[in-house]
Order: sequence, then structure tokens, then C-alpha cells
Amino acid sequence: MANFEPRKYSRKKTRQISVGKVAVGGDAPISVQSMTITKTADVDATLQQIYALAAAGCDIVRCTCNDIAAAEGLAKIVPRSPVPIIADIHHQYRMALAALEAGVHGLRLNPGNIRKPEHIKAVATEARDRGVPIRIGVNGGSLDPALYDKHGGLTAAAMVESAQQELRFFEEVDFDLVKISVKASNVPLMVDAYRMLSRVTDFPLHLGVTEAGPLPGGLIKATAGISTLLLEGIGDTIRYSLTADPVEEARAGRQLLESLGLRERKNVDLIACPSCGRAEVDVIAIAQEAQSAFADKKLPLQIAVMGCVVNGPGEAREADLGIAAGHKRGHLFVKGRNVAVVPESEMVDALVEWATFIHEHGTEAAIKRVDTTLAEREAAKDRSVALAEKGDDANHDTEKIVEIRRTVAGE
Ligand code: SF4
Repeated sequence: MANFEPRKYSRKKTRQISVGKVAVGGDAPISVQSMTITKTADVDATLQQIYALAAAGCDIVRCTCNDIAAAEGLAKIVPRSPVPIIADIHHQYRMALAALEAGVHGLRLNPGNIRKPEHIKAVATEARDRGVPIRIGVNGGSLDPALYDKHGGLTAAAMVESAQQELRFFEEVDFDLVKISVKASNVPLMVDAYRMLSRVTDFPLHLGVTEAGPLPGGLIKATAGISTLLLEGIGDTIRYSLTADPVEEARAGRQLLESLGLRERKNVDLIACPSCGRAEVDVIAIAQEAQSAFADKKLPLQIAVMGCVVNGPGEAREADLGIAAGHKRGHLFVKGRNVAVVPESEMVDALVEWATFIHEHGTEAAIKRVDTTLAEREAAKDRSVALAEKGDDANHDTEKIVEIRRTVAGE
């Protein structure tokens, strides 16, 4: 994908800040964030997790800085990390100052938890002098009680006002290296809050559905909220907050951006048919086997696993590479052209081998690699056998409809 051009979806123009080497906002690519779940004081374990997150596509990692041992850990982690590190601060403003001393590339402050203006301004002043950005991380679950009362509960306006209050303290000390989040666990509320915020500020926005929960529900909630906003051009950096290994968060974030065309594809885009009465293999098992086989391979290709040779190659003709099952054999196709027929037990191995070849040499070279007429002849043979055996109506729709009509007519 050499000529990758990110989709812009009329992206809202925001200011650009830098979190270490990663630009956020403006026309910078939308970045993926996640957070370590180790004790930050455990430097080795935390660094191990940071490396795993970076390998999974995470651009920026956040670590909690909740005590002096964590701040000391950050001093050792920051210089060894492959990605910028943000310190997450909840209650003690002195931990923010300690994290800055440790050399972090960014801070996240929760305005609901650090409320004294002099403390907020002390942190902002120090961050300003060091050129370190701060995220105003409003969280629906820890909103300032005064705002909760003023707005009659947790509302989008209350969250936006919380961010604006914090911004005013920052302005008083001339600090503007800011990004903002207004996360809630309720998706429609989160979407409303970000839309409202985006109308009143041009600071970059960090999107997330907080406490989205375990898989798969958490993935669905986070995707619903984040992608709705991204498609409206709102959002400059994202985080999936899942109750799971944080590597899942990084993978999800990366995959969402790749599937929306907002980041260049780095990993296999595996497409697979949902299977039906025509399937000649266990499509679910083969697709899962293929997913595991490609999980750690950085191959920016679309690869299809299709259950039958009758419709598979045609339906997945846009894929770089695919395999369709027919007659205990796998028919490999490249850009819709049959290139090889392999035994069913070798389908996934063959996919991996051809994908590696295509990655190195391209699809045209792959088609030229073999005598396609031979594979096409074999595929045509299996297709006609399948059609003869299962006919055009593999799910027996016509038969069922006739039966339904009979039942309704009381025959
Ligand atoms: S017709 Fe073939 S390719 Fe389409 S869903 Fe059924 S098995 Fe899969």
C-alpha cells in the first residue's frame, strides 16, 4: 500500500501538540493509546508491557503515577521506552510534579480529582516551563460534585464545563499544550459530550468510552462511540478502555483506524464468509486458524477465507489473496484468479506461504508464478461438482418457502 492516503472524513481542524515524538491534532495521523496495568514501580514488568503495546500498534502509552515509587519507576522507564510515556495523575498534584521531574512526555490530569486552583496552576506552570502537554481527562464517573449538582446530574454540558474550567486555570498561567477528553461509560452521552466539546474548542481531542468492560461487549461499546465521532471528523487520538490485556486495546485501536482508512494498513485484513449450507469446510475453524497464523505477521494484505468454490472466489475477488474450499481441496486465488489447488489440511499453510510471497513480490508476480490455466481447470471441475451436488439453492430456501406456504394455508 505504497500510495496510502488517509481518509479525512472532513476532519475538524485542531491545534497540533507533540507528545514526545508523536504529533497529536492538526493533520497528524490519529494515534492509538493504551495504559499499562503493571505497578509502575516494577520497571521491568512495565517496560515489557510497553514493548508489547508498541508492537501491537500503540503510539503512546500511559502509566499510573500514584506514589513516589511509581514516579521513581517512571524516571527509569521513560528513557528506555520505544514510545512516549504519559503519567496518569488522579489525586495528588505533587505526583504530577514528580512525574515531570521523571521526564514524562505528557500528563493526564483528572479535573474531578485535583480541584484546588493553586495546585492545578502549579502543575500547568511546571509543564509550560518544560514544554510538556497535559490532557484534561474529564471522566463521567469522577465529575466534580459541584458540577454534578449544578447540571442536575451527569450530562454532556457538565463534562464540557469541567474541561472549560480547567482550561481557564491553564490560561491564567499561559499554558496551552493541551488535549482534552470527556469520557463516559454511556455511549450516547459520550458522543454528545465530544460533539459539544468539539464545537467550543480547537484543542485536540482524545476519544474513549471509559470503563467499556470485557470483550466482546467492551469492544462494541468503544467502537460504537469512537467510530461515530471519527466518522464525523472529531478526534485526534483514541484509547479503548477494555477489561482485558492492554495489548487487546492497542490491537483494537489500530484495527479500527486501519478499517476506517485512517491509518496505513500494517496487518492482515482477514475477511471470511459467514458460512452457509453451501460451505464445504468448517469456515469458522479455518478462519480462526488463519487469524492465529497471521496474528504476528506484519503483512498489509487483505486475505479471504471462503467456504465454497461456487461463490467464494467471486465474492472475494478484491482480496489480494484468498482460499475457497471445494471437494476436500483448497482453491487459492490471487485477485480473483485461481493460482493453485491444495489439500484441505494445507489450506492455512498455503495461505501463509503465498501471502509472504505476495508481500515480497506483489500480486502480479504471484499470478505469473504458476500456470493459472491448470488451477482454473481444477477449480471449474470442483465448482461444477458442487453445483451438481448442492444445486443453486444450497440453503433449500425454495423448499422451505413452499413448506411455509403450505403450513399457512393449512394444507
Ligand atoms: S455461498 Fe460459499 S462463500 Fe458464500 S457464505 Fe456460503 S459457503 Fe461462504
